[in-house]
Amino acid sequence: MGPQAFLSRRVVTPQGIRPAAVLVEGDRIRAVISPSEIPAGTPREDFVDAAILPGLVDSHVHINEPGRTEWEGFSTATRAAAAGGYTMIVDMPLNCVPSTTRVNALAAKRKSAAGQCAVDWAAWGGVVRDNDQELEPLARAGVRGFKCFLVDPGVEEFTRVGERDLRKALPSLVRRGLPLLVHAELPGPVDLATRQLEREDWSQYQTYLRSRPEEAELAAINLMLSLCREYVFRLHIVHLATASALRTLQAARAEGLPVTVETCPHYLHFAAESIPAGATQFKCAPPVRCRVHRAGLWQGLKDGIIDMVVTDHSPCPPSMKRRQEGDFRSAWGGIAGLSMALPVVWTEALARGFALTNIAEWMSAQPAKLAGCDARKGRIAEGYDADLTVLDPEAQFTVTEHSLHQRHALSPYLGERLRGVVKRTYLRGRLVFREGEFSSQAAGREFQQ
Ligand SMILES: [Zn+2]
Repeated sequence: MGPQAFLSRRVVTPQGIRPAAVLVEGDRIRAVISPSEIPAGTPREDFVDAAILPGLVDSHVHINEPGRTEWEGFSTATRAAAAGGYTMIVDMPLNCVPSTTRVNALAAKRKSAAGQCAVDWAAWGGVVRDNDQELEPLARAGVRGFKCFLVDPGVEEFTRVGERDLRKALPSLVRRGLPLLVHAELPGPVDLATRQLEREDWSQYQTYLRSRPEEAELAAINLMLSLCREYVFRLHIVHLATASALRTLQAARAEGLPVTVETCPHYLHFAAESIPAGATQFKCAPPVRCRVHRAGLWQGLKDGIIDMVVTDHSPCPPSMKRRQEGDFRSAWGGIAGLSMALPVVWTEALARGFALTNIAEWMSAQPAKLAGCDARKGRIAEGYDADLTVLDPEAQFTVTEHSLHQRHALSPYLGERLRGVVKRTYLRGRLVFREGEFSSQAAGREFQQ
């Protein structure tokens, strides 16, 4: 492929938003230049007022393949990603079978992924009970870091860990310099609250919310920070839902602890007060909390305490959401967000005075850094992969089942009016998504250093 130029009046670069041409040669960005500097004869695509963003990177996706392909899979998850403006996703080690807790499981995952991905991907490994001997082999085999749960994750093959297990695992992570992503809720407060709510009405969202009190998040974060202080490993708190933890996290950062934090589009968009009875499509863990927390999480982003926004894309078959019964206790928890995350976050961000440079930082640069692929992904700059997302930031639309490309069109975003339409997605210089259509070629591959 010869060089090509992509122009826009709004190219989102690390230096700011400006009129520019992104000169692409083969897989990579050769230069970001002024439109007048495009070499004569170079084919050009001018997007005028539509913005060119770096391809988004989602470091928190449950692809569920192999083993639970009826929930989601490489083909559907990566298409949902491409439609949402993502060019790379990192797969969580659980909900697939086998869980990615041993090298042979990673090999099985690679085999399933081959030839069916619309965007690039990589894998996190899992820290579970008694797999501390597997961590370094997994790291050598190419996982980007590790994920663990302090509370029951809801699938029996992925065990939760406690402090004793972590003490066995952490030295390997320190040696490899890889991050530990932690689902930070402790079981004690959740179990106690759930027992006390036994006789309550579980069709009410408030009942579910009360069953996962913020104390569970706060205690887990405190435990992890104390381990971080002792072992000095890269600690990453996934899907922060409570704003009450921000002050502690800020203090930890000021103290010099290597801790990063993510939150998700659903915590930034929804609020517990407006979730209707029986609407189990809103169930996730930790739960969407009340408006005060939503406002606090936005402040956390503004203050730089929350580093990134990732989806926690976690679909399941519709039957598991128990929509008929509307029972928040038995419904599966998880929200699939890949196709809608960018418009959801952009709609909310714009209303609060943020710019597309913030979106590029939260949804591309920072997740790329967490996954250790920031030398190639996460920004529009010379030498980077030519991963580009073309977004019409002003266009509005209503979410319908056709806007979703995951395996099951189940989503709490259905019917929402949002701003920001993804027009095109380019993966390493190739057009993979255009106005609702996908390239017939599966151009995605596992990220290699
Ligand atoms: Zn998750």
